[in-house]
Amino acid sequence: MAVPVSRSLYEQVMVPNYAPAQVIPVQGQGARIWDQDGNEYIDFAGGIAVNALGHCHPALVQTLSEQSQRLWHISNVFTNEPAIRLAASLTKATFADRVFFANSGLEANEAAFKLARRYGTITGGEGKYEIISALESFHGRSLFTVSVAGQPKYSQGFGPAIAGIRHVPFNDIEALERTISSKTCAVVLEPILGESGVLPATYAYLQRARELCDEHGALLIFDEVQTGMGRLGKLFAYQYFGVVPDVLTAAKAIGCGFPLAAMLTTNEVAQHLGVGTHGSTFGGNPLACAVGEAALHLINSSQVLEGVSARHAYLVKALSEVGARYGIFEEIRGIGLLLGCVLTPAWKGKARYIMTKCLEQGVMVLQAGPDVIRLAPSLIIENVEMDAGLAKLEVTFNQLSMEQLVASLQSAE
Ligand SMILES: *Cc1c(COP(=O)(O)O)cnc(C)c1O
Repeated sequence: MAVPVSRSLYEQVMVPNYAPAQVIPVQGQGARIWDQDGNEYIDFAGGIAVNALGHCHPALVQTLSEQSQRLWHISNVFTNEPAIRLAASLTKATFADRVFFANSGLEANEAAFKLARRYGTITGGEGKYEIISALESFHGRSLFTVSVAGQPKYSQGFGPAIAGIRHVPFNDIEALERTISSKTCAVVLEPILGESGVLPATYAYLQRARELCDEHGALLIFDEVQTGMGRLGKLFAYQYFGVVPDVLTAAKAIGCGFPLAAMLTTNEVAQHLGVGTHGSTFGGNPLACAVGEAALHLINSSQVLEGVSARHAYLVKALSEVGARYGIFEEIRGIGLLLGCVLTPAWKGKARYIMTKCLEQGVMVLQAGPDVIRLAPSLIIENVEMDAGLAKLEVTFNQLSMEQLVASLQSAE
């Protein structure tokens, strides 16, 4: 007999590294989710920018079930048709000539960083291994990726970090000019700082990073794990900004919920990852690649990509209005459907609390640090779903402002 599944069982049997919400979702359709008790939620979180086509998109369900009856796994001792087809489609749609498949964002970044170090060593000698990245950036949770990311809270307490990483403030051109040198093998940037507040890079910054990398023989790596796959209304953010990297990493939405990641690069750079230099057992498996291929085909269409800017405009207007009405948001920032609602001073530091309150009212949102509520909904979320979610936000903010009023009256007594 199956074990009855409760949230308290979670506390007993799971490693305590997460603090998930109290409810357990069991089903999703489009931008709607239902929990064990049948409560309905509007999903503005999208599984952290993963479910780009909502939940259980019929075309993806069909692709997955068809492939599941054909071939699941074969390892990289053999290749497989879905992987070759997906790689061909990705190279056709981007600057890249070559693809390496992995299963998660950190793995795609690990491959990119190892490639950068090999590239540096081969083209510039043993001393060309420094990687420059932005303070407050996020690149995943392996030791290499937490070392590269400029966030001590993720890297401290795990013994020595990977050496040879230089951190610079994001969007600071002069700091990058001062730090880059002949020892630099790569500059790695998120086009929008996702986890740290949904802060877009400026065009000037990315453009200058491109020039500096060219001058110093360093690779420009864009971590597009969060910004990629249509999120900004272009397939990738580099296409939105018009600055082309040497290496691009994608994950999150590339499998629309099926674990899949990719590192894209050029012929010239790819040659430095020769046979035996890197690999993955599951990377590029037929199940994941079949889903990825169907997802890419659906997302990389004018219908979906153009729909992103219409939804952006609709949500930004509505969020600005509701945020102003309750004095809760001072700014809505972000591009496409990666939105950051910056909390007013009265609410700063309370993003997690607000997120929990939103869930209680039936709308799922994310935080991006303590001061920003982040939204990363399905790229094809429908108007009725957006309206339902916005109405639930309104109820939540109304309740929060009442709470605040009561608290201020009590403290005045
Ligand atoms: C989520 C994220 C990662 C890590 O991806 P995982 O699949 O969790 O390993 C890396 N970089 C960025 C920008 C991300 O948003």
